[in-house]
Amino acid sequence: MSEPMLTIEEAVVLVREHARPLVPCCRSLLDGLGCVLAEDVAADGDEPPFDKALVDGYAVRAADLAEADGRLRVGETILAGQTPTRSLGPREAAAIMTGAPLPLGADAVLMHERTRVIDGDILSDEIDVPAGRNRLVRGQVYRAGDFVLRRGSRLSPASLGLLASVGRPRVMVIPRPRVAIVSTGDELVQPEQTPGPGQIRNSNAVMLQALAVLRGASAQILPIARDESSELKRVLKEGLSSDVLLITGGVSAGQRDLVPAALAELGVTRIFHKVRLKPGKPLWFGTLPGQGDRAGTLVFGLPGNPVSGLVGFLLFVGPALHLLTGQSDSLPEPVEARLGGTFTHRGERPTYHPARWLERQRDRSPGVLEPLPWAGSADLLAVAQADGFAVFPAGDRTFQAGEIVRFLSLD
Ligand code: AMP
Ligand code: MG
Repeated sequence: MSEPMLTIEEAVVLVREHARPLVPCCRSLLDGLGCVLAEDVAADGDEPPFDKALVDGYAVRAADLAEADGRLRVGETILAGQTPTRSLGPREAAAIMTGAPLPLGADAVLMHERTRVIDGDILSDEIDVPAGRNRLVRGQVYRAGDFVLRRGSRLSPASLGLLASVGRPRVMVIPRPRVAIVSTGDELVQPEQTPGPGQIRNSNAVMLQALAVLRGASAQILPIARDESSELKRVLKEGLSSDVLLITGGVSAGQRDLVPAALAELGVTRIFHKVRLKPGKPLWFGTLPGQGDRAGTLVFGLPGNPVSGLVGFLLFVGPALHLLTGQSDSLPEPVEARLGGTFTHRGERPTYHPARWLERQRDRSPGVLEPLPWAGSADLLAVAQADGFAVFPAGDRTFQAGEIVRFLSLD
């Protein structure tokens, strides 16, 4: 009996239905980089906390300059980190460094480079200096109690700096999803090993780990599981303690494709198996429900061939991670592109074919694409040279140069 095959769109809807943002938790700043903030953050004080000098030079009362023909007596010196000991007298300047508090009575700072020293006085190049020059007034940037970051914003390096400046070394964020990666197959050896007869190196694990990390997850590679039921179940069980379990291989129709049965025995509910897609048809998706404090696990069984796994990740795992990490902006969709030459596509399933830009998209005119020579789902070489995948609809057809197709970027 042939199983019903979902369209890509139907399968994406099912994945999205099961992917909810993870429960917020407290993280140190660097751990929160790229995460979605789960609280509104208010300033604990004014910024700047005092009227401060923006340049090295002399704190002055601007009105004094015209009266004194630009020549002022120099009183005390105020370094950054110090506070003035007294207010500015008439026709007096204080030597001041960038970031130091202005003395009472000063309302502008003369840049050091625009002054000369004469007999212990300073002479300004300019006499007509407006009040406020080179000064930042207390609270000018934000005031105590102002919200500086809102729940839902994504933490960038600049937002981490801002959080530090308002005294928040830890914040509530949607945490990184924990992704576990299990490669299955008797033929697999580690990348550092030399394959024996019939063996190949495991290329999927590190590729999927990288894809997951680039989408804000923390991803751990578990031991390779042999095509043997009890070993497979042992490794899969370990992976089920993560938020997302990515399995490669063992989901097709071969005699040693034991993953669906092993997952069923471990209590994982199948949501779908097989998607009308090339490469990557045997894709398996299911969930392990949460229990008590434990959140549920999303389980993806990706076909073993590397390009199938990669395409399956882009289409299904990426959107799931996007939702788990609480991001509200929409995911990048395929864009329209023109074919640079004629191309014949044959096949009964929509096909993701590695392609690269001949000319990138400019303004609103679509970019020009070249589908790359490609030996199919085991051929990562073409993908490593590609910018993404040209999407050809099901059916045999020759596309003419200049025809519009969709393009899914690898970025
Ligand atoms: P399977 O889905 O297990 O039938 O595997 C399909 C093909 O992908 C086979 O040729 C496998 O040798 C290959 N393959 C499976 N797992 C990996 C892996 N981790 N890295 C590279 N190739 C793999
Ligand atoms: Mg296999």
